[in-house]
Amino acid sequence: MLQFDNRFLRTFPGDASAAPHSRQVHGAIWSHVKPTPVSAPQLIAYSIEVAQMLGISESALQSSAVVSALAGNATLPGMETYATVYGGHQFGNWAGQLGDGRAILLGETVSPSGARFELQLKGAGPTPYSRRADGRAVLRSSIREFLCSEAMHHLGVPTTRALSLVLTGDRVERDMFYDGNPELEPGAIVCRVAPSFLRFGHYEIFASRGESALLRTLVDYTIATYYPAINNAYIAPGERICAWYGEVCERTAELMADWMRVGFVHGVMNTDNMSILGLTIDYGPYGWIDNFDPGWTPNTTDAQGRRYAFGRQPGIAQWNLARLGDALATLEDVSTDALAASLARYEHAYGAAITRAYSAKLGVSHWVDDEGDLLDELFALFGEAEIDMTLFFRALCRATNAEALSETFYSPEAWRSLSARVQRWFARLDAQVLRENPSAEARAARVAAMLRANPKYVLRNYLAQQAIDAAHAGDFTQIDRLLEVMRRPYDEQPEHESIAAKRPEWARVKAGCSMLSCSS
Ligand code: AMP
Ligand code: MG
Repeated sequence: MLQFDNRFLRTFPGDASAAPHSRQVHGAIWSHVKPTPVSAPQLIAYSIEVAQMLGISESALQSSAVVSALAGNATLPGMETYATVYGGHQFGNWAGQLGDGRAILLGETVSPSGARFELQLKGAGPTPYSRRADGRAVLRSSIREFLCSEAMHHLGVPTTRALSLVLTGDRVERDMFYDGNPELEPGAIVCRVAPSFLRFGHYEIFASRGESALLRTLVDYTIATYYPAINNAYIAPGERICAWYGEVCERTAELMADWMRVGFVHGVMNTDNMSILGLTIDYGPYGWIDNFDPGWTPNTTDAQGRRYAFGRQPGIAQWNLARLGDALATLEDVSTDALAASLARYEHAYGAAITRAYSAKLGVSHWVDDEGDLLDELFALFGEAEIDMTLFFRALCRATNAEALSETFYSPEAWRSLSARVQRWFARLDAQVLRENPSAEARAARVAAMLRANPKYVLRNYLAQQAIDAAHAGDFTQIDRLLEVMRRPYDEQPEHESIAAKRPEWARVKAGCSMLSCSS
């Protein structure tokens, strides 16, 4: 059974009041808050890998005591429930206090192997940070968060995990299209799991309020707990903070390269949605690239500015890191020059990580030949026609001629008009492959390595939406099927070939498949 050791609560000052009403909380990082009970909890999906990681058996997970806890109706021995305060820059502007408005922590577990994880219920009712919202989450967004957390993990992308998906039995009112027509939708709760849910916004809020002592405690705690190598370095405290910030910059750079290599678009990269551990966090109106389009955003709220579009993510992460740096600069022994030097590590780390990623995707170490840059030409081709990113790179692994790539084009006419250029591009790549791999064995090894770098299965927007539509009709089996397939995204799974299909035409404009609102 789960063992709890709630170190975070012990380390930091808490809110004097345990009342649930919305308020500004000063001089504290957390508030005690109890989840609001729900009427008929039902465990509709769970991740067995996360259960194992925590040391809970499948039968224990399904027991009524544990399901009650995952629904917020009861606590298990050792659990203490609380919400934390954070702020954030939303769409480029400082938004003041935000906080866990619908996330309630259950405490920290220590697994049998000694690994520590925080458990957090998303959608378990109001907290002091809910502002005017209800603290709840709907089934559709909960299915999306549950599935994508696990899909990302299996793709090898750092992320918060999802233990369980519970249907509450209660209805939640949402105006999905923001058009004045709210509807009652089924409510759900996801139990998220991560070593820490700390965000850039946690540091920003204390800096903005001049609460330097709290900021200092939080920074020291973060370094000591999650960055032990830096904690043990013999350097002055201010320098240690800059060194740690440089590490956060590098981890974030690696995360961005991961998102860009798999075609993931977060959709709401506000600083309150940036993990201090470099994890993907807060799955809202995220989406997956079907045709490779750097200007695409899944988020309807961002349709005008496209601030958080696919191709802008690396630059936005850097901007967000600069805001974290601003917060750290308020500490008196932290030098702004040293912070700037640490932030400069971002660009370098991103460049190295994305180069590694594309080298693996193309299966070559160098892509500049006498004619020019092969990758530039590929991105130019992606800009000329709708070409499916996932299918293109997967087909490229085994392609022996350019024709093998034709199916990855969304329109046959586009393929016909571009095929000569694609053939030229493919011939150049092929020549490079031969230069780098003179032997047949080396070329076979290249194919095998490429198959491990180019996933066959990603959680395409329309797939998640189909599982949501089925769940609304009472059929939860598609959630399990998608989870099953997404466990092995780099493997051929002939029985699930249809899940690797490109976006069908009907999904181009359907809500949930093409664009999503933040209503969740
Ligand atoms: P997001 O950008 O969706 O991650 O959320 C921004 C802020 O709004 C966070 O502080 C959330 O906790 C809060 N929030 C979002 N939805 C709700 C809700 N239904 N009830 C309470 N707070 C919410
Ligand atoms: Mg958030």
